Amino acid sequence: MSVSVVGHSNPDTDSVTAAIAFANYLKSTGTDAKACMQISAANLNPESKVVLEKFNLTAPEELNDAAGKDIALVDFSDIAQAPANIGDANLVAIVDHHKIGDITTGSPILFYNKPVGCTCTVLLEMYKNNNVDLPKDIAGGMLCAILSDTVNFKSPTCTDEDKAAVAELLQITGVADQDALFMEMLKAKSSVEGIPAKDLIFRDYKDFDMNGKKVGIGQIELATLDQVADIRDDLYAAVQEVKSEGRHSVLFMLTDVVKEGTDLMVVSDEPAIIEGAFNGKIEGQSMWVEGMMSRKKQTVPPLQKAFGA
Ligand code: MG
Ligand code: MG
Ligand code: MG
Repeated sequence: MSVSVVGHSNPDTDSVTAAIAFANYLKSTGTDAKACMQISAANLNPESKVVLEKFNLTAPEELNDAAGKDIALVDFSDIAQAPANIGDANLVAIVDHHKIGDITTGSPILFYNKPVGCTCTVLLEMYKNNNVDLPKDIAGGMLCAILSDTVNFKSPTCTDEDKAAVAELLQITGVADQDALFMEMLKAKSSVEGIPAKDLIFRDYKDFDMNGKKVGIGQIELATLDQVADIRDDLYAAVQEVKSEGRHSVLFMLTDVVKEGTDLMVVSDEPAIIEGAFNGKIEGQSMWVEGMMSRKKQTVPPLQKAFGA
């Protein structure tokens, strides 16, 4: 029976390309295998779609029920993130870079886990250690996975091994510009095209009680603010509308992931409180807040303090 290699539910680029890379590794070392994912190709996230297309990789086939199958896991080892009936599968291998989850086996398996930024970093080491030929297109997918998981080296999870793996994969693939490749992926991931303004506000949105005042904060992450240049007025109108639905203030964070800051759109009964919280001045619709990336860590606490909560 062929081994089905599958990543976690709601797959990211690492889960998708690691399944492809490990299936190829198994085949090259004498075990029949195929890449799978817990989603249909049509429902794959926009970033992974771009990656597969760019490197001419076939999307893994959909697998939602593991019962009776030979299974290998990549990028996770938690039952909650596994296909249905994982307990009734024959688990043959796990390659991962997370804390060990709650999946167990009745007999010994290949289990290779390292505290690095990406499963594909671990897989590259396996390819090298065992002198397995790494096809260029698969190397391209692995390169993208490492850039995605490490946020182009900006994530605190990124290690020297991830950086060395990227250097090697750039060589193998002949990709000249790492930042341009990352930008291409980020643009796909953060595409706002054709999405109604109010949906963008609510895509990642939370209401807070700040000393008795209802304050809403939404956020979108962008590769560049140019991505929303044409829809700024629509967004502002949507923020005004959300504010009018019984809120004291609504903030919409247009976060530039590359510049590492946020253009903060503000509609408020007392804009001076918001300006004071972030030590800036609202000009027109918004204010630039240097370094603001995280709503939880950088937006909410100063606001709460400014509101006296
Ligand atoms: Mg993942
Ligand atoms: Mg990963
Ligand atoms: Mg990830």
